Amino acid sequence: MRESMKLSFEKSRPGHGTDYLPPFDSEYDLLPDHFRRKRTPRLPEMSEIEVSRHYTELEDRTFGINDGSYLLGSCTMKYNPKINDAMASLPELRDVHPLAPDLYSQGSRLLTVFAESVFSEITGMDRMSFAPMAGAQGEFAALLMFRAYFAHKGEHRTKIIVPDTAHGTNPASAAMAGYDVITVPSNEEGGVDVEKMREVMSDDVAGLMLTNPNTLGLLDANIQEITALVHEYGGLNYYDGANLNPIMGISRPGDIGFDLVHLNLHKTFSTPHGGGGPGSGPVGCKEALAPFLPLDIPTVLGHETVAPSPSVLFNIFLQSRSLSFPTIELYHPEHSIGRVGRFYGNYLVVVRALTFALRLGKEGVPASAKQAVLNANYLLAKLKDIFEPAFGDTCMHEFVISLKDLKRRHGVDAKQFSKALQDYGIHPPTMYFPLNVPEALMIEPTETESKDRLDRIAEVFRELHEKALSEPEYFAKAPYHQPISQPDETQAARQPKLRYEFPADDGDA
Ligand SMILES: *Cc1c(COP(=O)(O)O)cnc(C)c1O
Repeated sequence: MRESMKLSFEKSRPGHGTDYLPPFDSEYDLLPDHFRRKRTPRLPEMSEIEVSRHYTELEDRTFGINDGSYLLGSCTMKYNPKINDAMASLPELRDVHPLAPDLYSQGSRLLTVFAESVFSEITGMDRMSFAPMAGAQGEFAALLMFRAYFAHKGEHRTKIIVPDTAHGTNPASAAMAGYDVITVPSNEEGGVDVEKMREVMSDDVAGLMLTNPNTLGLLDANIQEITALVHEYGGLNYYDGANLNPIMGISRPGDIGFDLVHLNLHKTFSTPHGGGGPGSGPVGCKEALAPFLPLDIPTVLGHETVAPSPSVLFNIFLQSRSLSFPTIELYHPEHSIGRVGRFYGNYLVVVRALTFALRLGKEGVPASAKQAVLNANYLLAKLKDIFEPAFGDTCMHEFVISLKDLKRRHGVDAKQFSKALQDYGIHPPTMYFPLNVPEALMIEPTETESKDRLDRIAEVFRELHEKALSEPEYFAKAPYHQPISQPDETQAARQPKLRYEFPADDGDA
């Protein structure tokens, strides 16, 4: 194990060159007195090179997709092509102020309209807002739209149906939007139990939230029956599209009965995530729900409820170049749920995602989805004789294995196994999820990995399995070559130390 790293506060030495800026001469008394600090904040005092080294040291202790395979199931940790960053770094896009006058924002707005057109096409929706800044925020915005829609119709509905295989954010978003969550169990195939669902349907059900493929990495075989059932009772169908990766360009939520959808651009469309963002969770909807979308939506005049398709938009653009620039206004949907974030959401994430989608193109998008499914199945096939698959022999973009036998017979559990993977340059899979699979590891290689890499991953898994049989004590202290080995996780969760305590802390830092 490496020497533990010091915090910048611990590295700080008085007078070590923090005078980057001239002292502030408060000639302008613009800030009201009650907003002013009573004393100078005790920022770490470090020279520029020390600061730079500090961050390089931190970087060295983290793991990203550029360090090795990142098998974190359900998170879609795929390669982020460099061209995405190149586009997002263009000063014309990066530096434009969100409050710049209409005339100077036309280009940036056109790009948003174009993104709306492309991602609406991919999801089969009529309109989309890029305001939500994470998947969970997209869900929440969609549920507020449910509320606004039924309120507008004068209907009082209180329940949302969420299958037990849903991502944890689904019931949380429904509860935050003020709905009672009704959980429906899965059937033997891991899909929604339609009969059980029929039993809980009533006129107070506002709708269904469905993740597809679900968090077990499975497609629901009865999906059209399920969405039709909800519509029969006047409810809405919401599609959690965070896991769109295996079906993008192949099947569209809008074609199988869904009224609203959110995407995770930071998963499916490759923009970097992990460590908290930045994300983008656009929410798309059918025309009937467009009046309830969040503020504000850059819109080509005359296309307020249905975004023009990419080809129509292209024509509008070509024509308008010869006349004057198209007027793209900020449209306020008539019964909008209001603002869910600042300005246009995480605009540069949208730029990256759009670059990714356009570079792949109409053939590339489904090809990449198929590659993701192929990679997952290839890896599953290479592992399934010794690692018990939790749900059958084939999968979509990810699969779940159970290490319960390894734990029972040799005392090596899913967590210890994952820890040991780190010394081989492999990021652990998602652990202990789904909850109904004991000692679960959920593995998602994405389309990023080559066959050679997948072979190597399988080899490492098999080697470690071998080791678990012959030398289980090895796992008690693994990993051996990482900055941190096995911290006390209970203590870390129960007594988190998130604030540096100054030696004589008087609490006014
Ligand atoms: C990741 C994920 C979410 C939440 O997305 P965030 O951007 O982390 O808020 C929701 N649903 C599913 C199925 C996911 O995989």
